[in-house]
Amino acid sequence: MRKFICIVCPKGCHLEVDDQLKVTGNSCKRGETYGISEATNPVRMVTSTVKIKSELITRLPVRTDQPIPKSRIFDVMAEINKLEVTAPVAIKDVLIANVLGLGSNIIATRTVEK
Ligand code: SF4
Repeated sequence: MRKFICIVCPKGCHLEVDDQLKVTGNSCKRGETYGISEATNPVRMVTSTVKIKSELITRLPVRTDQPIPKSRIFDVMAEINKLEVTAPVAIKDVLIANVLGLGSNIIATRTVEK
């Protein structure tokens, strides 16, 4: 039996997932999906910053546009840390496409015009 707190909505239901992936403690179907995912292949969004050549700022905020396996967070961070971009950059610009083949892009989360 594994225990998780569902983070899909602010209610924060306390989930229990047994060895047969039966989920209890959830108040809705989304919690069941979350509990099974956490027990089998936990994923996370990654947020960070990268160096930017700009007149305005020195670090550009970035994030994954899809969740990635939790076990690959350090690998993805290593790729993010290699990045250095030059302004202008627009919000949602793809800075790394399909990072490490995980099906998620690294995107800018703000616009920097110069
Ligand atoms: S199980 Fe449903 S109601 Fe409970 S925290 Fe998750 S999403 Fe919210």
